Amino acid sequence: MSNNKYKILLVEDEENIRDFVQTIMEANAYQVIPAKTGAQASLLFHSHLPDLVILDLGLPDMDGLELIREIRAASAIPILVLSARTQELDKVYALDLGANDYVTKPFGISELLARVRVALRDSRSGPEGLPGGRFTMGDLEIDHEKRRVTIAGKEVRFTQTEYNILAVLAEHAGKMMTYSAIIRAVWGGSDQGSVKKLQVNMANIRKKMGSKPGENRYIINELGVGYRMCQE
Ligand code: CA
Repeated sequence: MSNNKYKILLVEDEENIRDFVQTIMEANAYQVIPAKTGAQASLLFHSHLPDLVILDLGLPDMDGLELIREIRAASAIPILVLSARTQELDKVYALDLGANDYVTKPFGISELLARVRVALRDSRSGPEGLPGGRFTMGDLEIDHEKRRVTIAGKEVRFTQTEYNILAVLAEHAGKMMTYSAIIRAVWGGSDQGSVKKLQVNMANIRKKMGSKPGENRYIINELGVGYRMCQE
């Protein structure tokens, strides 16, 4: 039934990582099209029309960011970036160019699979827009209809802005959201003080949720990149 499998274009020049990822993905019922270079990836992308791209940013023949630009010009399919820990700025560029998320090397199997599932789920649920219904994660519950947040059944009160930030993160739970993506979604645009404004709101949110500084119970903060709502 290979027709029903999600097709993943895997772009990675390091053979051991490429083989490792291909093995994991195939063991989890994904079909993998491996590419060693940017040029090869570009050809395979247009001929195979994959459902998702896993992309290493450091390619021998071109910058992975170039490839994101090229793919985004043609398609909205999810792009998951593999990046080294030293490429902080590249992660932000990649996300702002339209990559859906990233995994930092070295990564674990379960982390990679979780990111792939979130990216595929996000692409199926279509364009942005606040969802109706409920979001739950552990003892946290967000009722989007009533704009009400409870933790262990107890209501936590947020300002409009704080709630909107939470709702955006919950909508994309499991996915890293850059500062600028959150700012666009909440304020509609950015100005000089936007990141500071976001950080101040986020500090209040985390305080109200009872997270101590440095403790990531509900929302993970990656300094210089953005925030990720945990999934469970
Ligand atoms: Ca590489």
